[in-house]
Amino acid sequence: MNKELRKQFDENEGYFGEFGGRYAPEVLTEALEELQRVYKKLKKDKVFQKDVSNYLRNYVHRPSLLSFAPNLTKEWGGAKIWLKREDLNHTGAHKINNAIGQALMARYMGKKRIIAETGAGQHGLATATVGAMFGFETVIYMGDVDIKRQELNVVKMKMMGATVRGVSAGEATLKEATSEAMRDWALNVKDTHYIVGSAIGPHPFPTIVKDFQSIIGKESRKQFKKLTGTLPDAVVACVGGGSNAIGMFQGFVKDKKVALYGVEAGGRNTEPGNHSATITYGKIGFLHGTKTLIIQDDNGQIVPAHSVSAGLDYPGVGPEHAHLATSGRVKYASATDEEALSSFLEICKVEGIIPALETSHAFHFAKKLAKELGKKKHILICLSGRGDKDAAEVYRLLGSVE
Ligand SMILES: *Cc1c(COP(=O)(O)O)cnc(C)c1O
Repeated sequence: MNKELRKQFDENEGYFGEFGGRYAPEVLTEALEELQRVYKKLKKDKVFQKDVSNYLRNYVHRPSLLSFAPNLTKEWGGAKIWLKREDLNHTGAHKINNAIGQALMARYMGKKRIIAETGAGQHGLATATVGAMFGFETVIYMGDVDIKRQELNVVKMKMMGATVRGVSAGEATLKEATSEAMRDWALNVKDTHYIVGSAIGPHPFPTIVKDFQSIIGKESRKQFKKLTGTLPDAVVACVGGGSNAIGMFQGFVKDKKVALYGVEAGGRNTEPGNHSATITYGKIGFLHGTKTLIIQDDNGQIVPAHSVSAGLDYPGVGPEHAHLATSGRVKYASATDEEALSSFLEICKVEGIIPALETSHAFHFAKKLAKELGKKKHILICLSGRGDKDAAEVYRLLGSVE
């Protein structure tokens, strides 16, 4: 990098406390620096930002609703429950907020091709969607196990013209799909933009994804104030890589009185290999170009993650969450597969909303918190996505859903 360029970068940029940074293979350095340079410019570019806002309003259907959940409030008998309805976005989850933003960036950079990794298929779906709309060649990497679990999303991606490439290495889930997408990017960086789907990866990705998802928190703060005249006492979101949570927290992190909770996947049990509760059980390490908490064994080997929900099945976590946990500003908890499945059905039956299995983890925690806080308090839950994609899998797992 020449001197002139170096001046544009702050060495500490991209770190959240001791976490984050850029630990990517050398072949990606130039692409990451280009991305950082372009993003810095676009962040302040009024025309670009207006473009993003227009698509969010007219294509994604934002602002998403923030509404009171009367039945859950009554059923749980504690704090008042409020829902931020990211499930009502076009394509059914928060992922589209980031996909739209990054697709517009790719267009601005003159790229012809976009690629992405996906676990639950929601980010693949969001990327295939913007790929169709903006006319990119689109390739989605997905673990073979997830392809089986999320067949409907795979069909949808193909319908919109994307190529879905199965990844059979290792556990054949999100971690391997991410590695494969990074490999593709390294080979094709000239004409390809890699739309990272969560607040993970080397700098500047965690910041870019956070900024595009911060619309969730910004809207929520405004909507909640308008509806109640106050702020929520607690905000709860599920954490996989951590993008819906970091976006939601963005609206409240400066309000010290608002307690923030991230809920990870506790899986089958607390043994390594059986959960995805990275913050609770992880150790510092390096994964996919960033320094963060990772589920690993005593020799520093990454241990495969497990969760009933494909979207939480990742052995790392966004570096900013690792920092927020260390600093204590956000508290992290976990819910097991069984607890999430039971909350999934409860939300369906009580509130008439089919939530994503990912979000169901947050609901389980919120139920306990509601009892603890009592009737005078308000809890806001980020309903990150809808559960249509999970309906068949839940039925298969439970046998009976009555
Ligand atoms: C992908 C996904 C998640 C997990 O990803 P984050 O980056 O942690 O938000 C959660 N909920 C839904 C519905 C998802 O599709």
